[in-house]
Amino acid sequence: MVKTIFIGDVQAGKYDGQEVELMGWVKRSRGSNKIRFVVLRDSTGVIQCVVKKDAIGEESFEQVKGALIESSIKITGIINADERADGGHEMIASSIVIVGSVNPQHPFPITESAMKAADGGETEFLLDNRHLYLRTSRMTAMLQMRSTVFGSIHNYFRDLDFTEYQAPNFVAGAVEGGSTLFEVPYFGKKVYLTQSWQLYAEAAMPALERLYTIAPSFRAEKSRTRRHLTEFWHAEMEVAWATNDEIMTHGEGVVRKIASDLLENRSTELESIGRDLELVARYADSPYPRMRYDEAIETLQGMGVDVEWGQDLDYSKEKVLTQDFDVPHFLTHYPKIAKPFYHRVDPDEGQYVLCHDLLAPEGYGEIIGGGERTWSEAELLARLDEEGTDKAAYQFYIDTRSYGGVPHGGFGLGVDRVCSWLTGADHIREVIPFPRDSRRVSP
Ligand code: ATP
Ligand code: MG
Repeated sequence: MVKTIFIGDVQAGKYDGQEVELMGWVKRSRGSNKIRFVVLRDSTGVIQCVVKKDAIGEESFEQVKGALIESSIKITGIINADERADGGHEMIASSIVIVGSVNPQHPFPITESAMKAADGGETEFLLDNRHLYLRTSRMTAMLQMRSTVFGSIHNYFRDLDFTEYQAPNFVAGAVEGGSTLFEVPYFGKKVYLTQSWQLYAEAAMPALERLYTIAPSFRAEKSRTRRHLTEFWHAEMEVAWATNDEIMTHGEGVVRKIASDLLENRSTELESIGRDLELVARYADSPYPRMRYDEAIETLQGMGVDVEWGQDLDYSKEKVLTQDFDVPHFLTHYPKIAKPFYHRVDPDEGQYVLCHDLLAPEGYGEIIGGGERTWSEAELLARLDEEGTDKAAYQFYIDTRSYGGVPHGGFGLGVDRVCSWLTGADHIREVIPFPRDSRRVSP
């Protein structure tokens, strides 16, 4: 059973007047004892099929009447262009086969009335039924756009001759601080799930010079927010001989490419979920300004926000700051005291590190964190001591500096965050098939 004809192509007018066989799932079905209107969906669209008892015979017609929502069917008929039809085409059916039926004792559970009646509310109901919710047009559009985003990232880096490189997911030490580490029993020892690919990428930096990945990272985020998952997809890159400015240029480059690829390939999907295409076009076409942390603090203080120099900016502050941004902005030169040991201290102004966060507008906040790495062995040892971090777990990392360390840096981009910001989703869990947070690991 090879499927060659997709509803999207039929709606694009490629089969007008022809007899074709369509395969898909029943989205809706209504009608009388003589005629039924079956709305068929597949991964590319929907089409109404007009099924007359006279045309397909009594027995088949009874089966069609019994084909409940989400039954899978094969249906053959002539395609007619018709302006009044949804999508501009309809099928006049001549035969129909029910492939996978739905038991009337257990009809498809996701209905308007079930959502309204759900004890725990609509959101929890849909998360409980995530495995079935994936079939709705909204989730289908989200997953298709997500795939485009992954493709854009791969293409951006591969076009520039970056090597795709994989790091282990079981690790001995933290990258982003101990409070969000997931501990895993490991043959009588304790290890952790990785929070980032970075430290292992730095080990390969002298071999590959330009490297990237898209991989899951794990963080035990206790508080549930619109932009945190416990398992998220992390696009990370590392470049030898690079400065903070050059790394920001790549961050801007990849985000603008994602926005532009979405516009070019997924404008229908963006519109179907209500996204304003002009905003996405602006993010694709405009340069992203760079602003120092100190300026951001002054701006926030000017807005009456209670924030002091030296604090890392959490979401509550980023939200206020980015509310009035019309494009993403880089924030650079955070205070050294706000950042971990691997951020390189600015050789000209020792109280700052050469780092950046890219903050998305519309009140969204951080989508990228990156910068130059502490690359000299002596500086790295001093920074670890200063922090009181145990060096044992980082010996391999220190070694990378002992043998021909060079200036280098990179960034981490939250792929799910970029998807949810660019699609205008209300919550990060809308853009990933099976979201994981502190309360939910199923289905
Ligand atoms: P935040 O302060 O927003 O929690 P972070 O500074 O801890 O983020 P980084 O360590 O800089 O995050 O990670 C790089 C990028 O990975 C972030 O800019 C963000 O886009 C993404 N990211 C980090 N944590 C999460 C998470 N829990 N869920 C989804 N994406 C995340
Ligand atoms: Mg960060």
